[in-house]
Amino acid sequence: MPPLPVKSSGVLFERGARKLGLHPYPAPMAINSIVYKDRPPCAQCGLCGGFGCEVMAKSSSVWTMIPEAEATGKCEVRSESYVFRIGMNAAGRATGVHYFDKNKVEHFQPARAVVVCANGSETPKLLLNSETNAFPQGLANSSGAVGRYLMFNKGGGAAARFEHPLNEYKGANVTRVLHDWYESDPKRGFYGGGGFDARSGGPLTWGQSVPEGTPTWGPEFKEYLGSYTYWMTCSGHGTSLAVESNRIDIDPELKDAWGVPAMRVTHKDHPDDVKHANWLVQRAVEIMDAAGAKQIDPGEVGPSSGGVHLLGTCRMGNDPSTSVIDKYHRTHDVKNLFLCDGSSMVTSGRGQPTETIEALAFRAGDFISRFARAGEI
Ligand SMILES: Cc1cc2nc3c(=O)[nH]c(=O)nc-3n(C[C@H](O)[C@H](O)[C@H](O)COP(=O)(O)OP(=O)(O)OC[C@H]3O[C@@H](n4cnc5c(N)ncnc54)[C@H](O)[C@@H]3O)c2cc1C
Ligand code: SF4
Repeated sequence: MPPLPVKSSGVLFERGARKLGLHPYPAPMAINSIVYKDRPPCAQCGLCGGFGCEVMAKSSSVWTMIPEAEATGKCEVRSESYVFRIGMNAAGRATGVHYFDKNKVEHFQPARAVVVCANGSETPKLLLNSETNAFPQGLANSSGAVGRYLMFNKGGGAAARFEHPLNEYKGANVTRVLHDWYESDPKRGFYGGGGFDARSGGPLTWGQSVPEGTPTWGPEFKEYLGSYTYWMTCSGHGTSLAVESNRIDIDPELKDAWGVPAMRVTHKDHPDDVKHANWLVQRAVEIMDAAGAKQIDPGEVGPSSGGVHLLGTCRMGNDPSTSVIDKYHRTHDVKNLFLCDGSSMVTSGRGQPTETIEALAFRAGDFISRFARAGEI
C-alpha cells in the first residue's frame, strides 16, 4: 500500500537530511494507508504513539492475528492470566503451564507443546522460575545463557524547536526515516550503525513527559502544554552489543504481586554503544540545524538508561553449550518447549526489531505445525 501522508516533522527532517546529501524516505509503518483486510485506512487522529488505535488501522495483533486466530475456532485467549511455572515430567518433556487467572486463582493447562512468547525479560524469568531437579539452574538452561546477553538498542537524538507550529497532533507518529548510517563503519571508531526517524509524540505524550522544574499546574503548565506544537525529535535508534554479564535473573528476596520471585536486571552499556549513541546525537543536531531549527536540545547519553526493546536473553544457536534455542526456536534441552520473541535474537540489529520478531514467529509457527504433523510433539 502507498505510504502515509507526510507530516511537518517528516518534511523538516527530509529538508535537513537532503541538504546534507543524505537519503531520507517514507517510513514503512505497520498502519493501513488504504482499506486492507476489511480494516480502514489511518484516520490521522495522531494518537498511535503509545496508545491503541480505535479505528483498527494500526496493525496491532489485537486487530490482526488474534481475531484471525479466534475465527478458526482453535484459539482461546485467557486475558490477564499470568503463567508462573512450566510443568515438566520425569521424561524431560513439558506437560503444560501453571497460571493464575485474572482473579489470582491457580490453574494448570496441559499441553502437547508449550510456546513461550513473553518477550525478552519475562521469558527468561519464567524459565528461571521453572527450575526442576533435572534443571536446577532453570529450565532449558544447561548452557547458562538464559537471561544473558540482554540488549536494548541504545540510541541518541535531538529535540528541535521551529519558528512555526508543526501541528504534529495529526497523523501517525513517524513519516520519514533515514538509513544512510545503518552499516557499521570502522572509520567512526566504534562498532555499530543505526537509523533515524522524525517524530513528535503529540500533545498527550508531551503532557506525559513534563521536564523537571516545569510546574504541573497553572499558567506556566498551560504555556508548556501549548509549546508542544513547535517541537519535533530527530530520533536515532542504534546498536547494543551482546555482553554476557548484561542479564535478567531472579532476585533472591523480592517477590511480585502474585508472590512469584521477581526479576532482577543487571546492565551496563558496552563502551562502543555509548560512543555510537553520542555520534548519533551529533548527527541529529546537524540534521535539525540544516532543517532550520531555532533551538536544538541534544539528547543526553547516560551510561545505561535501559530501554524498551528486550533482546537476546534466550539466544538462538547451533551449539547447545552456548545458546538456548535451535534454528527452529525449539529449546535444545526440552524438545516440546519453544521460545519465540525478542529473547531469540543474537544481535540487536539497528533498532525497531519487531517486524523481525514477527517474521521469525511466522517461520517458527510453520516449523511447530510440521513437528506436530510428524508426531514429534
Ligand atoms: C514504548 C515502546 C515503544 C516501542 N517502539 C517500537 C518501535 O517503534 N518499533 C519496534 O520495532 N519495536 C518497538 N518496541 C518494541 C516492541 O514492542 C517489541 O519488540 C514487541 O512488542 C515484541 O513482541 P512480542 O510479541 O515478542 O512481545 P510483547 O509484545 O512484549 O508481548 C509479550 C506478551 O506476553 C505477556 N506475558 C509476559 N509474561 C507473561 C506471563 N508470565 N504469563 C502470561 N503472559 C505473559 C505480556 O503481557 C505480553 O502481552 C517498543 C516497545 C515499547 C515498550
Ligand atoms: S493516527 Fe494512529 S491511532 Fe490514529 S487512526 Fe492513524 S494509526 Fe490509528
